[in-house]
This record gives sequence, C-alpha cells and structure tokens, in this order.
Amino acid sequence: MTEIPCTHPRFASLKIRTLIEEGVAQGITSTAGLIAHGRGEAFDYLLGEDTYDFALEAMYEAVKVLKTAKHPIISVNGNTAVLVPDSIVKLSKIIQAPLEVNIFHSSKEREVAIANHLQKHGAENVLLPSSDTELTGLESNRRFVNPEGIAKADVVFVPLEDGDRCEYLVKRGVRVITVDLNPLSRTARTSHITIVDNVVRAIPALINLLLNTPTNSSKSFSNREILIRAEKKLRAFSQCS
Ligand code: ATP
Ligand code: MG
Repeated sequence: MTEIPCTHPRFASLKIRTLIEEGVAQGITSTAGLIAHGRGEAFDYLLGEDTYDFALEAMYEAVKVLKTAKHPIISVNGNTAVLVPDSIVKLSKIIQAPLEVNIFHSSKEREVAIANHLQKHGAENVLLPSSDTELTGLESNRRFVNPEGIAKADVVFVPLEDGDRCEYLVKRGVRVITVDLNPLSRTARTSHITIVDNVVRAIPALINLLLNTPTNSSKSFSNREILIRAEKKLRAFSQCS
C-alpha cells in the first residue's frame, strides 16, 4: 500500500481510503464498498470533515433509545468492519448488543471474514446470518438474518445502511438508528434517527456520550428537522467565502 506522509493536507481522508482498500484486499470489504465510500467521502468533504450539532443531537437521541432497548443489535457490513473495528466492538460491549454481520452483496466468505476481523478486535458476541431465517418480503441478500439477532430485535443500529432494508425494518416496527453522511438517502430519510457524520467520528463520539453524558432530558426529537439542518449545512459549502 502507498505510504502517506503525515504532513499531507489530506492525510486523514487518505488514511481512511487506505483502510477501505486494505479491506478489499483482505476479503472484508466488497469492491462496491469502495464506491459507497466514495459517495460518503464527497459528502464529508462538503461538511468540512467535521461533526456538527445536528449529528450530536441525533447521537444523544440514539443513546436514549439504545439505553432503553430490550434487544438491541448492531448490524455490521464490510465498510464498518474495516473503518471502526475497535470502536464498534467497544460499543457492542457497552450496550450489550451483539454484532450481526449483514451485507448487501452476497458472499459467505466475506461474512466469515468480517466476523473473524471483529473477533480479532475483541468481539465476543458476533452473529452470522442464517440461510434458514429470512425477512420475508425483502429481496436483497440483507434478508438473511440470525434468529437470535435482527430477527427479534426491537432496535437495530446500522451504520451505512441500505435503504431497502431500512424501510422494511421500520415497517415491521423496529426502531432504526443509522449513520449516513448523505441526508438525502432513503436510509437517512426512513430511519428514526440519522446521525449525519462520518462513521469514523460518529462511533467514538457516541461512545463518549454513552459513557459521560446523562440522557435524562425529554427534549423532543425530529429526524426530519435534523436532516433539513444537515442539508442546509451541505448546501452552504463554499471555498470562496
Ligand atoms: P439508500 O440505499 O439509502 O438510498 P444509497 O444507495 O445512496 O442509499 P448505499 O450505497 O446504499 O447508498 O450506501 C452508502 C451510503 O453510506 C451513502 O449514503 C454514503 O453517503 C454513506 N457513507 C459511505 N461512507 C460513509 C462513512 N464513512 N460514514 C458515513 N456514511 C457513509
Ligand atoms: Mg442503497
């Protein structure tokens, strides 16, 4: 892999790209994951690669929901596994939620590679999808789930979700929390809580909130309002100001 000098002005972004590239070489990330990453990266560029109040407010709401969930599950795909393996494992332990491997582009080998990667990073509770348990009515490979996991979850935390499954879970009455840099995606618009931030910043920030902030405020939450604020921020981007 190309060595990136730490003085490079785009160092952080290039390091993240390297992780995704390595993920493909290790059989964890799909080649389509590279494209999905590119889309996210473009939005992050427009956001100045920063975490804003609309993301923090969504995280605050997510913490409230995760703390009171009866059967929370964290759904993990290849991009999340290579970008934030340590923090997603840490989150799973703090909220006592299994990590369930669930990918859009079908591959048994990749599912196992993701599970192994998470275990190498300390995960103790990793679930794989079962070919016998399907979410009927959903057509993509994401329909295969674990009977002890997503199949009976009341809350699913799914960074980098796919719109189809998100809609499906919401219709089933599951609370869906996502991280998506694109406030215009179907996922962002369908989820109950959308954290518009890069997953590499969002998961550590969420952990920090979980551990250090009391969440007893009853302030009302509107995901629609969060998305409007995020979109405004994106559209306000200008290098000429
Ligand atoms: P949808 O299926 O919801 O309509 P989509 O088809 O546009 O969305 P997908 O390819 O399903 O997008 O998933 C990629 C999504 O993940 C994009 O919205 C992209 O902005 C977002 N994304 C990619 N990388 C990151 C990241 N590191 N952090 C947060 N979001 C990201
Ligand atoms: Mg999609």
